[in-house]
Amino acid sequence: MRIDIITCLPRLLESPFGDSILKRAQDKGLVAVHVHDLREYSTNKHRTTDDYAFGGGAGMVMMIEPIDRCIQALTSARAYDDIIYMSPDGERLSQSIANQLSLKKNLILLCGHYKGVDERVREHLITREISIGDYVLSGGELAAAVVADAVIRLLPGVLNDETSALSDSFQDGLIAPPVYTRPSEYKGWKVPDVLLSGHQAKIEEWKQEQSIKRTKERRPNL
Ligand code: SAH
Repeated sequence: MRIDIITCLPRLLESPFGDSILKRAQDKGLVAVHVHDLREYSTNKHRTTDDYAFGGGAGMVMMIEPIDRCIQALTSARAYDDIIYMSPDGERLSQSIANQLSLKKNLILLCGHYKGVDERVREHLITREISIGDYVLSGGELAAAVVADAVIRLLPGVLNDETSALSDSFQDGLIAPPVYTRPSEYKGWKVPDVLLSGHQAKIEEWKQEQSIKRTKERRPNL
C-alpha cells in the first residue's frame, strides 16, 4: 500500500511515522508513506500556499493551485483509489472505514490548515472527506496521521501477532477485554485468578464474557 500525504507543514508528520509500528511497517516494505510539501508546488516567488478569504472574515484559506498541481503530479504517476480531504464535517472515521481503506492500494490524504481549503478543491479535486471526530483541530496533519495509523496497523504483517488487530475493540462489534501483565499482585491489587489458571478454554470464556459486559456498559450501540 502507498499513502501520499499533502500538507503545508510536513514537519508535523515526521514523528508519527518515524517510530514504532508505523516505522517498522515502512521498513518492512508493507507500506510506503510519502509526505509532500505544498510549498514546493506553489508558483509564486514567496512559495505561499494560502491567501485572504474573498468576502473577508478571519483566517487564511489554502489556495487551489498548489493543491491541484500536487494532486496532478501524483495522479499522473499512478492511479489512486481515493483522494481524501481531512475535514471536521466529513464522514466520521470508524473501524469499518479503516478496514475499508486498508484494502486500497494507493491513497492521498490532503491536510487543510488555517480556515481550510478553497471550496473548489472539495468540489472538484477530491473523492472523499473524512473527519476524526466532532471537534476542530488546527490542521489536518494529526487527523491524517490518525487515519494512516488506523489503516496501516491492519495491513497483513504489520502487527507481530497476526491475530492481534482482529482481537482489538470494534473489530467484531465488541470492546476488547481487560488485559494484565506481571506482577500478578501489586499493592494488593490482583490479576483475576482465571488468567493465571493456565486453563485455556476457561480463559477464552472469561475474555468473551468480559468483552460482552464491557460492550453493554460502554458501547451498547454496538
Ligand atoms: N473552518 C473549518 C475548520 C478548519 S480547521 C470549519 O469550521 O469547518 C483546519 C483544518 O484542520 C481543516 O481544513 C482540516 O483539514 C483539519 N481538521 C480540523 N478538524 C478536523 C477533524 N475533526 N477531522 C479531520 N480534519 C480536521
